[in-house]
Amino acid sequence: MWKNIEAAPADSILGLTEAFKKETNPNKVNLGVGVYKDDAGNTPVLKSVKAAEAILLEREQTKSYLPISGDPIYASSVQKLIFGEDSEVISNGRAATVHAPGGTGALRVGAELLKKFNSQAKVWISKPTWANHKGIFAAAGFGLAEYNYYDAANMCLDFPALVASLEAVPAGDIVLLHACCHNPSGVDLNEEQWKQVVAIGKAKGWIPFLDFAYQGFGAGVEADRFAVEQFAAAGVDFFVASSFSKNFGLYNERTGALTVVSPNREESVVAMSHLKVTVRVIYSNPPAHGGLVAATILSDPALYQQWLGELNDMRERIVAMRTALVDGIAARGVDRDFSFIKEQRGMFSFSGLNDDVVKWLRDNKAIYVVGGGRINLAGLTSANIDYVCDAIAEILKK
Ligand code: PMP
Repeated sequence: MWKNIEAAPADSILGLTEAFKKETNPNKVNLGVGVYKDDAGNTPVLKSVKAAEAILLEREQTKSYLPISGDPIYASSVQKLIFGEDSEVISNGRAATVHAPGGTGALRVGAELLKKFNSQAKVWISKPTWANHKGIFAAAGFGLAEYNYYDAANMCLDFPALVASLEAVPAGDIVLLHACCHNPSGVDLNEEQWKQVVAIGKAKGWIPFLDFAYQGFGAGVEADRFAVEQFAAAGVDFFVASSFSKNFGLYNERTGALTVVSPNREESVVAMSHLKVTVRVIYSNPPAHGGLVAATILSDPALYQQWLGELNDMRERIVAMRTALVDGIAARGVDRDFSFIKEQRGMFSFSGLNDDVVKWLRDNKAIYVVGGGRINLAGLTSANIDYVCDAIAEILKK
């Protein structure tokens, strides 16, 4: 069957990890894939997760199937985290949440659901965006369009261009927005700018689809939900794909959720019925373990506090690495201002390093960066920061 078929290209980001594993240079540094690492370069299981797993091991009675939408306690835990405990969306029953396999699964379920009822719509993605966004929505059969987002010349948000793009999106089309910690740029909207975007969405009648994969990595769990809260307050239909991969470190447990918000309880019941039909034919029902871990932590005040502390430590370490990188490059006499990296949020930074520099870093120093210059700051540690700053200074001063 495969004799005359050309092999598909490796995934641009996961393929880089494969190449990195084979790299023999002992100084190698992986600034590619979006996984948090601690200062020792490890991606450990959080202590709060280990504690929850011990509880679950004790309590678990069955491996029987979960409901199609997942454990109801998981769904309510997700809603409290993404909207805030006292949100009117929850008390008015306006949100329908299903446990999906990761944020990726949540995006795909949302795409399939939208395709059923809105098949002519286009999906608008930010320019640039996480590479898999294109693949997910294209695989569901959608045509794609890009809205302006990043000003590459000035390494910041191009808000006027963003507004102009979003004002031109036709009613019924879908706009995929990064709720916080934009991947790959690290450049987010401020609160005033979000308010304007929400007002445009409401006036124009496009459907917001928020990708919320990094809650807690921007400014904190509460501050990071600002965009979600604003869309909720606008009373419009919208979708949220959330993920516990990063903020709980549950990467391989595939623990995410799709939440569909409707203007009222009656419509939300209808939305849930179609969500279930959609899930049933893709993976039938979700894997249990990661969801149970997250729900256990989120519903236990002591574990919740422990987790918040661990999440804050991760965020603060990344911020410290941003500062160390910017100051380290400057201290080596590079005649280029990288201070914009300190303003960016989340795990990633558009470093402004071009593809020639990215290639040189990989070929000569075994420092792996995604094409386009996206750096995962969490790949920096106190052991490799000087090596990385030296390398960047060497190539930029050539
Ligand atoms: N959205 C964005 C913007 C991401 O960066 C990621 C992970 N790299 C995801 C969604 C999906 O995450 P996961 O499927 O691992 O939960």
